[in-house]
Amino acid sequence: MNDPDPQNTAYSAALTQGVRDVVAKATSTLNRSSLGAMVQDLIAVGDATLTTLAANDPPAEALACGEGCAHCCRVQVHVSIIEALNIAQGLIDSLVADDLSALKSRIAALDDQTHGMTHKERGVLALPCPLLKDERCSVYDTRPFVCRAANSVDAEQCRVMLTDGADTQVTSYEHQKTVYATIGAATAAGLADGQQAAGIEAAPGGMVLELAAALRIALDHADPITGWVDGVLDFDPAKARRG
Ligand code: SF4
Repeated sequence: MNDPDPQNTAYSAALTQGVRDVVAKATSTLNRSSLGAMVQDLIAVGDATLTTLAANDPPAEALACGEGCAHCCRVQVHVSIIEALNIAQGLIDSLVADDLSALKSRIAALDDQTHGMTHKERGVLALPCPLLKDERCSVYDTRPFVCRAANSVDAEQCRVMLTDGADTQVTSYEHQKTVYATIGAATAAGLADGQQAAGIEAAPGGMVLELAAALRIALDHADPITGWVDGVLDFDPAKARRG
């Protein structure tokens, strides 16, 4: 699931500016409690924006997406640092030690198989996301913005896309792609702005990361958000490769 290019529309420009400003202002005060709240606020903004857009311009065809359909959970997923940190902290807070240990092993195994691959190289392998459980997302409420953006009117197109390395075009609802892709990109940009304004040099927030590699780094720390704030966590090895 790569980050689709936001459409050049008036609302995406306004959404970009609004999210970027809010995130930039909050960056210097982010901590273990405020980071999760900010991500939930950004998700709520995306959901409300999409609801309004859908009321005025609904999908031309019904979406095929539904519980248990997870073709799109077998491609590369790009995230900002705060999305990765929020998911990692949620996993640490909710999983018992054995389950967390097993998940960390699955994440490491996938990262070993796919590290440094392009979106296309990763897509052909069609390996499931380590957060996928029984064909359902185990972190659904905090799933990345690119996962929220992904949608399709035809599950067969999604299945075929996996076999041809994402060359097949999936017919989808553009507003859903635009809203969440815009928020994801604006979040990373806002973090970079905020760090620059506050003179924070460590752990640059503007990086786009590959999900498994980023979670592997974050889950290696008992308190990853504090670790990032303190400049201890280095996400550079998780940088996503374009292409
Ligand atoms: S984070 Fe969840 S929705 Fe996104 S690819 Fe992984 S399992 Fe699927």
